Amino acid sequence: MECNYYIDTHTHIYGQEFSGEYDLAVERAKAAGVKKVITPGIDSSCHGLLLDFCEKHSGFAFPAAGLHPTSVNGDWEKELDFVYSELSTGKYVAVGEIGIDAYWSKEYLGQQKEAFRLQLQKAAEMGLPVIIHAREATEPILQILKSLKHLAIKGVFHAYTGSYETSRIIKDLGDFKFGIGGVVTFKNASIAETVKKLDLKDIVLETDSPYLTPVPLRGKRNESSYIPLIAEKISSLKNAEIGEIASVTTENAEKLFNI
Ligand SMILES: [Zn+2]
Repeated sequence: MECNYYIDTHTHIYGQEFSGEYDLAVERAKAAGVKKVITPGIDSSCHGLLLDFCEKHSGFAFPAAGLHPTSVNGDWEKELDFVYSELSTGKYVAVGEIGIDAYWSKEYLGQQKEAFRLQLQKAAEMGLPVIIHAREATEPILQILKSLKHLAIKGVFHAYTGSYETSRIIKDLGDFKFGIGGVVTFKNASIAETVKKLDLKDIVLETDSPYLTPVPLRGKRNESSYIPLIAEKISSLKNAEIGEIASVTTENAEKLFNI
């Protein structure tokens, strides 16, 4: 089935950066052909905004709940309880974002790994996909996924910047897609070479709004309406019609998140 619309599989359009203009940002996204978005959680402090946004824009915005690795601190167990109680309400399409981030701080690296492992298990138990944030942490993430391979975990490696070879290892550890965003449009981005080799069936689109704004708008606040700029770049890299990029990546996202 052909679908000529897009899905932004990773946007923080509910955040304070859009305060006072949420409706306008949604209208702009819809006008650009973005029919649905996935909004990942970070921690309990910003979850209220996320839920308000998704309630107001139901059918367009689909929430995920998870403890982000950069929010893992001394309170991580309490925060995990919060995530679990949210997930138990049944209104979430994914567990995320979760993962390991050794770039910002290594202070709670051990706890980050434990929180990641526990949330992966929770997702498998609930049959939900995961949204993985990996920054300077490919090795520990692959190690943990390897130890849980029997759980048949599915999900997306958000803001993927790894090599094609690493993507093959990841595919072997579970049913994973790769989130491609604005970075692919940056000059000399190595992910552009990876995208040429990746099967389109393994790619989903994302903005990671308000961050990682695609060229030529780099430097400005990112938003979901910029998804076509990413699709255009992938279309030229893969020598494929933009309609095919839209339809295959949308189908990938709808299947993965069951939306
Ligand atoms: Zn994010």
